Amino acid sequence: MIQRQFYDPGRGAMTCSIEGLEKFDSPGKGRGLRVTRAFQTGELLFSCPAYSYVLSLKERGCYCEFCFTRKEGLARCGKCKKAFYCNANCQRGDWPMHKLECSAMTAFQENWCPSEMARLVARIIAKKKMQTERCASEKILPIGDMQSHVDDVDNERKDMYEGDIAGLHRFYSKHLELPDHKDLLTLFSQIACNGFTIEDDELSHTGTAIYPDVALINHSCLPSVIVTYNGTSAEVRAVQNMKPGDEVLISYIDLLYPTDDRNNRLRESYYFTCDCQECKSKSKDEAKLKVRKRIDPIEPEVISNMTRYARKTIRELRAFKNIKNILLISLNNTELLEMCEQSLEEMGAVFDDSNVYMLHMMYQAMGVCIHMQDANGAIRYGEKILKPYSQLYPPYSLNVSSMYLKLARLYMGIDRHSMGIRAFKKALAIMEVAHGKDHYYLTELRKEMAEK
Ligand SMILES: [Zn+2]
Ligand SMILES: [Zn+2]
Ligand SMILES: [Zn+2]
Repeated sequence: MIQRQFYDPGRGAMTCSIEGLEKFDSPGKGRGLRVTRAFQTGELLFSCPAYSYVLSLKERGCYCEFCFTRKEGLARCGKCKKAFYCNANCQRGDWPMHKLECSAMTAFQENWCPSEMARLVARIIAKKKMQTERCASEKILPIGDMQSHVDDVDNERKDMYEGDIAGLHRFYSKHLELPDHKDLLTLFSQIACNGFTIEDDELSHTGTAIYPDVALINHSCLPSVIVTYNGTSAEVRAVQNMKPGDEVLISYIDLLYPTDDRNNRLRESYYFTCDCQECKSKSKDEAKLKVRKRIDPIEPEVISNMTRYARKTIRELRAFKNIKNILLISLNNTELLEMCEQSLEEMGAVFDDSNVYMLHMMYQAMGVCIHMQDANGAIRYGEKILKPYSQLYPPYSLNVSSMYLKLARLYMGIDRHSMGIRAFKKALAIMEVAHGKDHYYLTELRKEMAEK
């Protein structure tokens, strides 16, 4: 599933008009969104309810399936015993969507395994049907306008969609009339380009959703806004001071990587190349690809070979995790940590510790340590990651705030309170801008800090 999305130029309308914003034809990008008044850093541009959304299976029991409230003591669906809600109201509200899965989960038991994308597609089809029944004349199908790039999809991804479509037929056809194969393929490619992954305060994946108005926003590697999530809604806040006429720009991808890598990613997933100021100047590329200082300089050929090795290792690691995910095999942590450590050792002969490929592997290793409850191991990696992260990411970055948060919680867990509070404060400073001062994550954070 892809992080960010974009929209088809020239068609469709915003689902509602938003004060201070307007659609326009962005040169070279098709349709875009711009501000018609000034916005200060941290100010909310708009909030957008999800057109359709789905909670990740691994988060069941932690979040309400309907309103995405995170709390303990949620009540279970009495039929399937797999979905959890705040109360009867939330359960009732979710029923039109949950009924697509409730009895099927009971019937298939552990064989019930549609992908998250297939689950979202089923909900979109059900929602479309409900809306057409309610008012046949009205066209409230924002998803219908979204660009699909169905002809550009590579074979690997096409195979994935075929698997997802088979899953839809197997698990949903009893309660849902499915469109024909060609329309389903289009729908899957639309979601791949336009779907948003909902992430929590530590950037852990909690669900997938469609936000039609946010999907109007074009990409830049120097974004003017950040998208965060509040319940099932998306909120868009300025991370720069904006003046009337400025285009609203988000980043569709992880901005850690150098220009070539970013654009490869954009072409692979979104079928375009970025021409923002950073892509032209490549001002951060040298720092991102920093080479170890040695008395005898390292040959350029050695560096380019190591870069190739790093990219290959990252790809392999991703494929390895994906395969395990698809086969529902839990990752072998020791095996994974070994992969990370081995590549860190190899790359470390050429790359500086602040090189993004080193950071990538350290981040993976840190995740494994957290999973294995090795706080000291995780802290060792986290401390190495933090400083280069703060330098290489833009000033207000969720990647940086979530890293501070992880570290803060790790410090607190081993009673290093003053370090913990310091890291919490750093996370707060970023989140006050990105999430807004009143977001419940911040209320929770302040409570966490006061308790210690
Ligand atoms: Zn709820
Ligand atoms: Zn149920
Ligand atoms: Zn760019």
